[in-house]
Amino acid sequence: MIRKLIRIGKEKCNGCGACADACHEGAIDIINGKAELVREHFHDGLGDCLPECPTGAISFEEREAPAYDEEAVKEAKKKVFAKNQAMSTHTGCPKLDQVDYSEKLTAIIQNNNIQSVTIVRMEVPCCGGLEIAAKKALQDSGKFLPWQVITISIDGKTIE
Ligand code: SF4
Ligand code: SF4
Repeated sequence: MIRKLIRIGKEKCNGCGACADACHEGAIDIINGKAELVREHFHDGLGDCLPECPTGAISFEEREAPAYDEEAVKEAKKKVFAKNQAMSTHTGCPKLDQVDYSEKLTAIIQNNNIQSVTIVRMEVPCCGGLEIAAKKALQDSGKFLPWQVITISIDGKTIE
């Protein structure tokens, strides 16, 4: 079908990514430093990206393209949400907080689509409590996830 789509002028595009950030539909990716409309069926034609482009690289044009697929956009958004959940960061200090984290961490691991766990701790002994709590949570969650511990020295370096 013929639809109103955006056209991105590659010669003007500086790859800043503002259009991709503005596109709530997720239709644009930055590929090799240039914006591209990679999912025409995600493109709603409302033009949210146009005013965000600092170089005026985006314009409208009419051309042959697949229809807007609202269901596909919703599915993609759900996947991004799940991925962001999985990449969430939780911080704590066993010395100052005086709580047992393992219960809370167990619930987080059980109730979210987490693919792996990275425990980042300081070399100071009290940080070991955090490592123990995270390992206990991994065991108690009943999930078999890859995990690693990264230890940071007092002067901010990673200890091998
Ligand atoms: S017009 Fe809307 S849906 Fe299409 S690329 Fe721009 S922001 Fe995304
Ligand atoms: S906002 Fe404009 S300059 Fe920036 S990536 Fe998008 S098209 Fe390129």
